[in-house]
Amino acid sequence: MAKKTFQIAIDGPVGAGKSTVAKLVAERLQILYVDTGAMYRAVALYMKRNGVSWEDEEAISQRLSELTITLSRPVDDQVDGRNVTVTLNGEDVSWEIRKADMGEGASVVSQYQAVRKKLVSLQQQLATNISVIMEGRDIGTKVLPKAQTKIYLDAGVQERARRKLEQSVKLGHGITFEAAVKDVETRDAREMGRKIDPLRPAEGAWMLNTTGLSITQVVDRIVERVSGEL
Ligand code: C5P
Repeated sequence: MAKKTFQIAIDGPVGAGKSTVAKLVAERLQILYVDTGAMYRAVALYMKRNGVSWEDEEAISQRLSELTITLSRPVDDQVDGRNVTVTLNGEDVSWEIRKADMGEGASVVSQYQAVRKKLVSLQQQLATNISVIMEGRDIGTKVLPKAQTKIYLDAGVQERARRKLEQSVKLGHGITFEAAVKDVETRDAREMGRKIDPLRPAEGAWMLNTTGLSITQVVDRIVERVSGEL
């Protein structure tokens, strides 16, 4: 008899804690973790390396067929603090896509229809016949609308900016708190206001505000709830 599979979709704005939480929930439940933001970052990186402006929708759409992106769980020598191993045309770019400007680049290129079409289809393939926790901006609304559990993770702007700042210090990029707040606000406006697949809670999503909660508290709540639904 085929094993029952299940899908957990997590959406939410920048700095809500999706990646950290989703990775830990995946470990606890022994399921695949898919970081969809990493894919948009890989597109931004490829275009930058090839001198294609992130604003040039036409050129980006045309060149998308040149990219092969893979996501996998880190193994052996890749265990270096990364959440996921990302390859771009066979090259390990897991750290390069975390550089300061790649979040901004991903936020710009993810507005384009052709980019979303390619990546959504890749994400859906990854979740076929396998239990998965996938996080991004349109997972419950577009990529996995039939997911058994849909979660919208949120936190206040100041809190998200604080987390972003902490993360950027860890990665060795020096930004100020004011710059982090501005970045969060710019990305929120772009992602919630875009025409295609805007960020919004999926119908029936569990709204979880993480302000003031520790990562462990958030993970525990999700595991408890998901376990009850399986
Ligand atoms: O989550 P992360 O910050 O890595 O995502 C980078 C950018 O990719 C986001 O700011 C968002 O604009 C875009 N994105 C998206 N849809 C997703 C995941 C990420 O538009 N499912």
